[in-house]
Amino acid sequence: MAEKKSAVLCQSCGMAMYDAENFGTDAQGNRVSDYCRDCFRNGGFVEPELTMEVMIQRLSEGMFRSEQEPSIRDSIVNFIGSLERWHGELWTPPPSTISVVEDNEETPGGLSSSFSPR
Ligand SMILES: [Zn+2]
Repeated sequence: MAEKKSAVLCQSCGMAMYDAENFGTDAQGNRVSDYCRDCFRNGGFVEPELTMEVMIQRLSEGMFRSEQEPSIRDSIVNFIGSLERWHGELWTPPPSTISVVEDNEETPGGLSSSFSPR
């Protein structure tokens, strides 16, 4: 009897994962259910600095090396944007000129809860 395996999509790169060994691992070495081992290992992202933009770039280059159709790239953008890792991240097209990246570190200024239980 052939068992039908359903693929789980990595919520970072969108890779379809079929076997347990495709999945990433948490800090205890257990398999996680959301990410592949290329993206997530030992409880952390392999490339924590990775941006959605770079991921899109990689996917479009990997899939359509020579003939890059903008429409396909669009669907990649949509696809990646739907994944959990990038969910809510606002993707903006790269600027035509590269400017110095500002190191704008935000310090959380104390969470004052406006919530008052009665
Ligand atoms: Zn992945």
